[in-house]
Amino acid sequence: MRKNIVIQGALIAGIILLAGYQFLGNRNAEPVRIRIATGGESGVYYAYGNALAEILEKRLNVQVTALQSGGSVDNIHLLKNGRAEIAFVQNDIMTYAYNGTNLFSAEGRFEDLSAIAGLYPETCQIVARSEIGGILDLRGKRVSVGDEGSGTELNALQILGAYGISYADIDVDHLSFGASVEAFKDGRIDAFFCTAGVPTPAISELAAKGGARLLSVGDAHARSLISQYPFYTQHIVPGGVYPGVDEAPTVAVRAVLATNGRLGDELVSEIVKILFDSRDEIAKSLPEAGDLNRGGAAEGITIPLHPEAEKYLFGS
Ligand code: GLU
Repeated sequence: MRKNIVIQGALIAGIILLAGYQFLGNRNAEPVRIRIATGGESGVYYAYGNALAEILEKRLNVQVTALQSGGSVDNIHLLKNGRAEIAFVQNDIMTYAYNGTNLFSAEGRFEDLSAIAGLYPETCQIVARSEIGGILDLRGKRVSVGDEGSGTELNALQILGAYGISYADIDVDHLSFGASVEAFKDGRIDAFFCTAGVPTPAISELAAKGGARLLSVGDAHARSLISQYPFYTQHIVPGGVYPGVDEAPTVAVRAVLATNGRLGDELVSEIVKILFDSRDEIAKSLPEAGDLNRGGAAEGITIPLHPEAEKYLFGS
């Protein structure tokens, strides 16, 4: 009897020790999977995220998945809530989230957010029916301002605002890029906003069918936007990037790969290296990926870089 009690006691002590060890171990362990928050299926984030996930999974030997989402604002929330470890985000949205300003003023600062690398320019493209001459003609029209949870929508609000147009003046829809193209083809919308790398697959598909143009954000309006929101830069979509679509001056922000402080340093260090090493491979199917370069990777980033990214980019 006494011997049994001793054995049981030893067993229980063993289990408690083991559980304690495992708890400590898990707390410090790197997650066994990485989730990359991207965007809608017809965007660049999604294509880039899937290509990167495939390469990371092979090289790191951990499960890596690309998640579909509404875009930058959704992705910030996925990072914040621990439902993704890495995300594609626009630099403007990322800064507002880090500082708890603009869209994020009710939520407060997100200080665990850090940047891994700036990737490529995301151009604010306003696709409209050929007969629509300019942004001012959008009054009274049916316009998709981007998906719920997108960064596109904030750009739409700010650009329309620069022209004195508010949501009260248009018939607003919230559609992903893919859904915008479908609605445009079916005649359910007259125009849509799309902040994404050029060429954006969804717009290429639409342009091939004809009947679409890009509206310009003229110099004076671009300058006034930049003075109010310094994340914008002036940018031109060259003619012919989309079949039959003329050159259009507009503004752009920048796509950034960000993380939330939940990945171990060693893993982030590997991820940064693999991201740069696989640039040319990804660029074969996605031209935007070719923009990545060490010298320009911190451009437009106004929140801290992850320490491992800082080391990789600046050798410090
Ligand atoms: N920048 C876009 C957004 O956050 C998404 C771009 C993409 O899906 O490629 O709204």
